Amino acid sequence: MLKTTITGSLPKPAWLAEPEKLWAPWAAEDPDRLEEAKHDAVRLAILDQEQAGIDIVTDGEQSRQHFVHGILEKIEGIDFEKKTTIGIRDDRYDADCPTVVSELKRSGPIHADEVKFARAQTERPLKFTMPGPMTIVDTLADEHYGDRPKMAMAFAKILNDEARELVAAGVDNLQFDEPAFNVYLDAVPTWGVEALNRAVEGLDCTTAVHICYGYGIEANLQWKATLGDVWDQYEAILPALSDSDIDQVSLEFAGSRVPLEVVKLLDGKKDVLVGAIDVTTLTAEAPEEVAKVIRAAMEFTSPERIFPCTNCGMVPLPRTVSQGKLKALGAGAALVRAEL
Ligand code: ZN
Repeated sequence: MLKTTITGSLPKPAWLAEPEKLWAPWAAEDPDRLEEAKHDAVRLAILDQEQAGIDIVTDGEQSRQHFVHGILEKIEGIDFEKKTTIGIRDDRYDADCPTVVSELKRSGPIHADEVKFARAQTERPLKFTMPGPMTIVDTLADEHYGDRPKMAMAFAKILNDEARELVAAGVDNLQFDEPAFNVYLDAVPTWGVEALNRAVEGLDCTTAVHICYGYGIEANLQWKATLGDVWDQYEAILPALSDSDIDQVSLEFAGSRVPLEVVKLLDGKKDVLVGAIDVTTLTAEAPEEVAKVIRAAMEFTSPERIFPCTNCGMVPLPRTVSQGKLKALGAGAALVRAEL
């Protein structure tokens, strides 16, 4: 009960990539040295989680430069040379995005080797993350499909083909990251959930979706300041997720203005990954603070449904801060477990 996990990403060591930066360039240019550095970083990411008492571990996303573009680099139909500046997440910020120029196709395995390596490093349940179809569509320029739902369904099929192989390679929990769900509220009950259901179709593992208010970067902090006293985005989308094929929903609570009672909207039908670690602060929570969020969530769903988690990825944080937050998460969950 109250098994802990993280959203996905952890900071990269300085010898792998420039610290405290999103989409940081790799430190090593030689492919063999880069491969070795990634492997070493994955070992340490898993060790940090195990030592902190995290039950369901990830590879810390050490082998990809960006949570969306890591997978897209291996998909045909996307021109990475042809960058188009578009306003993503409903114009919250501008990004130079690659352009879809022809039919999308996965030409071979993408993450299988990463999963096999991570699987061999730990006895604990292994979680692996990929961007969800709507978030991918929102992070690309399109010159081919001309229709977001249609392009999302094309990505959903590719993600599903990839996910099936990752499960065969040893993934216990497959999570799709959909921060875009919190932005395009009207599209979630229609094509957002439809594409997500397609992505998890027939998967023989636990499936999750992560929906958050983003990393603690300036553009997100400014956006959050406009959302008012009560953040009601989850209220609009959780009923549709309650009826979806997804097993677990990962939500942000710590330090946010999200009312915890939104958990009720999942009707006890889904596990809730309760975000009890704020990724926008530079100090680790006290275990008691983490415990408080977990206890509050228990007012609205049973402890069997609760998985204490981080609010979002920790990749932009200093490593020592992230290590402290992992420990706080493990210790906070242990406090509540001891009370039950
Ligand atoms: Zn997130």
